[in-house]
Amino acid sequence: MSAREYDLIVIGAGPVGENVADRAVQGGLSVVVVESELVGGECSYWACIPSKAMLRPGAALRAARDVQGAAAAVTGELDAAAVLARRDTFVHDWDDTSQVEWLQGAGIDLVRGHGRLTGEREVTVTGADGTETVLVARHAVAVSTGSAALIPDVPGLRDVQPWTSREATGMREVPASLAILGGGVVGSEMATLFTSLGIPVTVIARSALLRGVEPFAGEAVAKALRDAGAVVRTGVEVDSAARDADGDVVLTLTDGSEVRAAEVLVATGRVPRTHDVGLDAVGLTPGAWLEVDDTLRVRGVDWLYAVGDVNHRALLTHQGKYQGRAAGDVIAARARSRTVDDAPWGVHVATADHFAVPQVVFTEPEVAAVGHTQASAEKAGLEVRVLDYDLASVSGASEVADHYRGQARAIVDEQRRVLVGATFVGQDVGELLHSATVAIVGEVPLERLWHAVPSYPTISEVWLRLLEAYGRPTAE
Ligand SMILES: Cc1cc2nc3c(=O)[nH]c(=O)nc-3n(C[C@H](O)[C@H](O)[C@H](O)COP(=O)(O)OP(=O)(O)OC[C@H]3O[C@@H](n4cnc5c(N)ncnc54)[C@H](O)[C@@H]3O)c2cc1C
Repeated sequence: MSAREYDLIVIGAGPVGENVADRAVQGGLSVVVVESELVGGECSYWACIPSKAMLRPGAALRAARDVQGAAAAVTGELDAAAVLARRDTFVHDWDDTSQVEWLQGAGIDLVRGHGRLTGEREVTVTGADGTETVLVARHAVAVSTGSAALIPDVPGLRDVQPWTSREATGMREVPASLAILGGGVVGSEMATLFTSLGIPVTVIARSALLRGVEPFAGEAVAKALRDAGAVVRTGVEVDSAARDADGDVVLTLTDGSEVRAAEVLVATGRVPRTHDVGLDAVGLTPGAWLEVDDTLRVRGVDWLYAVGDVNHRALLTHQGKYQGRAAGDVIAARARSRTVDDAPWGVHVATADHFAVPQVVFTEPEVAAVGHTQASAEKAGLEVRVLDYDLASVSGASEVADHYRGQARAIVDEQRRVLVGATFVGQDVGELLHSATVAIVGEVPLERLWHAVPSYPTISEVWLRLLEAYGRPTAE
């Protein structure tokens, strides 16, 4: 069998693989991507896009209900069938034609099938009909195979056929009730979604919701869920699972209590999709996260790159795409024997990946966070000053909603007098986040931030209030 040769082979055509390939083509390389399911990946069809498409109607309804004059016009509940139809539009009915056309337009070749490393810079693709195509890379192979839901090792859990985020985002019918294992981002967003669809929801979380962001964020989300009728059980785990004679799932918890629901959704973390990509052929461990340096190169294999979820740095589409742009540039530069050590992306990958990862959680209320929390800044040994402000006291917020509830926190590194973290909780705060990201990544001195005047009346006025809480710094 003759092998097809390219400068770069990318395994996985999710958002990240697409970006690696696009940047490498722009850098003058010939590139092929290998995809076993849909071009566009998890994000486009079973994660970011469908979940946000279904969360938005609930957010819009809550927003209208909290504006006098508009509230009277809201006479019903969410139309679940229309919510699912909206989702179908956003995922193009799980048809990737438009993304394939984009690949073609960008000059990227596509081979459909399951890709495995079978030697040095060699990938063998097995198509749906069993045919094999051997691809050889002149310069590099990038693994961008993403991650999948972790199913915890709980007796009986696999037998009850639990939902993962795939079944939830791809559902054809809303179940009669839902138990959700896990109070992280996926669990909390799904709890918001299914509560807004009007079914009984029980969240079972080992710790508080949204661990990893400021504690007040998870507390606000838990309160809103409870106010909306959900049951939020924290500090407990599931001991065993079974289905009863009616087909309902019965979960027995560590405190001896039981939770019953029509379905159970597992949202307890992710595992890398590396169990069957031929890692053993290059001396790496199948099923492991792929450890990379700041140029996204796998440690110990100089032609292999791992980009996006699969390297476990930040399991977010925007961060993965950012890595993808850097990796594509790096691979193209190295292919031309150019150095990347003093190129700007090396520095940026280290900075943005390690210190300023922005994330919006589309719960009720919305949570937006970037950089350090108070706890992580203190743990990092920074001399920290914490600025808190009640978002409801910002005049722009009261224009947005009659009973606006929210909170803002900024973390200042007192030694450098720059912002190193920010967290906002409240309606529409997602759009506030990028201002904080710019201030943190740009290391804007607080003295300068005073001159970035927020418009009146917008929620952005919280910046002025936070700076006032700090007190005008005097330049030395
Ligand atoms: C419910 C949910 C909601 C989310 N919402 C957000 C959000 O709002 N914002 C955000 O930033 N992030 C969100 N994420 C995270 C986001 O989905 C991931 O970070 C992102 O999809 C990672 O992109 P990727 O390209 O690395 O992997 P993926 O999107 O998983 O793409 C990997 C691709 O590789 C293919 N593949 C795998 N193995 C092989 C193989 N051996 N051969 C060929 N092809 C292969 C897969 O079929 C897939 O198409 C969410 C995740 C979940 C689960």
